Amino acid sequence: MANEQSQEQADTGMPDWSAYRGVLIVVEQRDGAAKKVSWQLLGEGKKLAAKLEAPLMALVLGDDVAHLAEEAVHYGADRVFLCEAPELRTYRTRPYSRVCLKLIEEAKPEIVLFGATATGRDLAGAIATHLPTGLTADTTQLDVEPPPSRLLLASRPAFSEKMMATILCKQYRPQMATARAGVFQALPKDAAREGEIVRIEATMREEEIAAQVLDFLRETGKLNLEESEIIVAGGRGLGGPDAFGLLADLADALGGVVGASRAAVDAGWIGHEHQVGQTGATVRPKLYFAIGISGAVQHTVGMSHADVVVAINKDEKAPIFQFAHYGIVGDLFKIVPAIAEEIRQRRTLFGIKVGSAENSLSADALERSEAK
Ligand SMILES: Cc1cc2nc3c(=O)[nH]c(=O)nc-3n(C[C@H](O)[C@H](O)[C@H](O)COP(=O)(O)OP(=O)(O)OC[C@H]3O[C@@H](n4cnc5c(N)ncnc54)[C@H](O)[C@@H]3O)c2cc1C
Repeated sequence: MANEQSQEQADTGMPDWSAYRGVLIVVEQRDGAAKKVSWQLLGEGKKLAAKLEAPLMALVLGDDVAHLAEEAVHYGADRVFLCEAPELRTYRTRPYSRVCLKLIEEAKPEIVLFGATATGRDLAGAIATHLPTGLTADTTQLDVEPPPSRLLLASRPAFSEKMMATILCKQYRPQMATARAGVFQALPKDAAREGEIVRIEATMREEEIAAQVLDFLRETGKLNLEESEIIVAGGRGLGGPDAFGLLADLADALGGVVGASRAAVDAGWIGHEHQVGQTGATVRPKLYFAIGISGAVQHTVGMSHADVVVAINKDEKAPIFQFAHYGIVGDLFKIVPAIAEEIRQRRTLFGIKVGSAENSLSADALERSEAK
């Protein structure tokens, strides 16, 4: 079989990479909890592995993280490499990249995927500088060419986001990419699913690691749109920064956070950390409100995978209604407070605590709204 494939590969004029097989997802965790993007990548990796008729693998690194190896199996991994050591408790570039490099050398995956988070970008970049291969950053679409080429088709916006570029790594293995959170869909968790868990050794002792983690200071008021399950987003239809207070009120009643279109961000009504879309965050919440947002393609690419979209717009022909599961045609200044009030009443009735503006707005946006 391998010989046949090598022959086919020789026919295509490509180097023989038949020793490299399978898709490896590097699972990102903090304090023993995995980032959602890792499970989303397992979901996408499963499709790629199926097309390549190859195994889907995962690498879990940390201290006391064996439960994540089990979880990776439940989310679709066939084989999970688990590396546990006190030195790996908190992310540091060298000890993490050393483990990854050794595993890549030994397990020889043909594709390695990381989340395009701050940690994933750092780790993937560090690994790529040690391997004679390329790295496609911040991809939003992944596919593979079937055998014999087995090429990863890693696509991402390019040229100031005006077009999509598909980047290939023809001459080297593994093919590596980071992928944006919220773009791909995780498989439903299957607790009955079984897979192989392989323990591997850490490669560096504490005294060999130059960087020390003295303390971990959590940034307060930092918004994490990608991980939010409920987003209440507003656009130019809000007419100014004050109306974001109405959206924050609805978001608080729902236990969600505030998002925005680029038009609202460019107008200076709210910070860029709230922006959803092509040049903002790609989100996949359970519930997305699009309020006073027309539905330009650069916005909808960032939110069209939401489970439920509710659009509020006074123009019944606004394109956003094509994406909406529920559409309300009318004036947002009347509709939004009415919905917020109704939700608060129902939550009080059932004894559910509602949030506060601090939870739904970034520290910067909160300051702006308090200054008013
Ligand atoms: C390279 C590039 C990248 C881009 N990236 C992004 C991106 O990441 N995210 C993004 O969002 N955009 C992005 N854009 C901009 C995008 O093309 C649109 O211009 C933008 O999304 C429009 O924002 P909007 O829907 O808020 O405003 P508009 O298109 O002006 O829509 C405002 C809507 O509000 C409605 N409205 C007005 N008053 C009311 C009211 N009282 N009640 C109810 N509804 C009301 C109107 O009917 C209208 O539909 C990008 C553009 C380019 C060229």
